[in-house]
Amino acid sequence: MIMTTPELVPILTKEEIHQKIIDIAGKISCDYAGKDLLLIGILKGAFIFLSDLVRHLSIPAQIDFVRASSYGDTMSSSGTIALPCTVQIDVRNKHILLVEDIVDTGLTLSCLRKYFLLQEPASIKICAFIDKYERREADVQVDYACHTTHEGFLVGYGLDYAENYRGLPGIYHLKM
Ligand code: 5GP
Repeated sequence: MIMTTPELVPILTKEEIHQKIIDIAGKISCDYAGKDLLLIGILKGAFIFLSDLVRHLSIPAQIDFVRASSYGDTMSSSGTIALPCTVQIDVRNKHILLVEDIVDTGLTLSCLRKYFLLQEPASIKICAFIDKYERREADVQVDYACHTTHEGFLVGYGLDYAENYRGLPGIYHLKM
């Protein structure tokens, strides 16, 4: 059997990511000034994005995490969202910002949005590092996105393939 090494095609450098985080954190800081903001990071992919984002906000924010999974070790969504771990903070009357690494079909965020709406937050919006729209199935509005793309399986900056590549400082297109 011939094993091929996956190719990593650069999409965003560390420096470009840094500038995008500064820009989006500025917008969020303006929009949520004076509001009770709760950032909910979606594990595992959003852990790096959320930690950079929160350090560039100029307003206070609480942080919690949910763990959602739909991919396993493959490159396409199973369509079934598992939620093995959810938030500890009471979300009622808080302004929730769901922080996601990448939106693809939108099924994960559509499911999480419905889940949190039942808990009566003051508002709920979506912030994704990457909005990838080619395979969108659910009608979700991405309120804040650092980068928009049509297609491709991306890795790095928290994004994995079978738990590899999360630590890469840039974003790459993984070509098998
Ligand atoms: P959705 O439910 O929107 O289809 O999928 C969202 C989740 O799928 C993301 O949080 C991420 O874990 C995974 N995902 C979707 N597209 C990609 C991609 O291009 N690269 C990686 N590494 N994960 C992806």
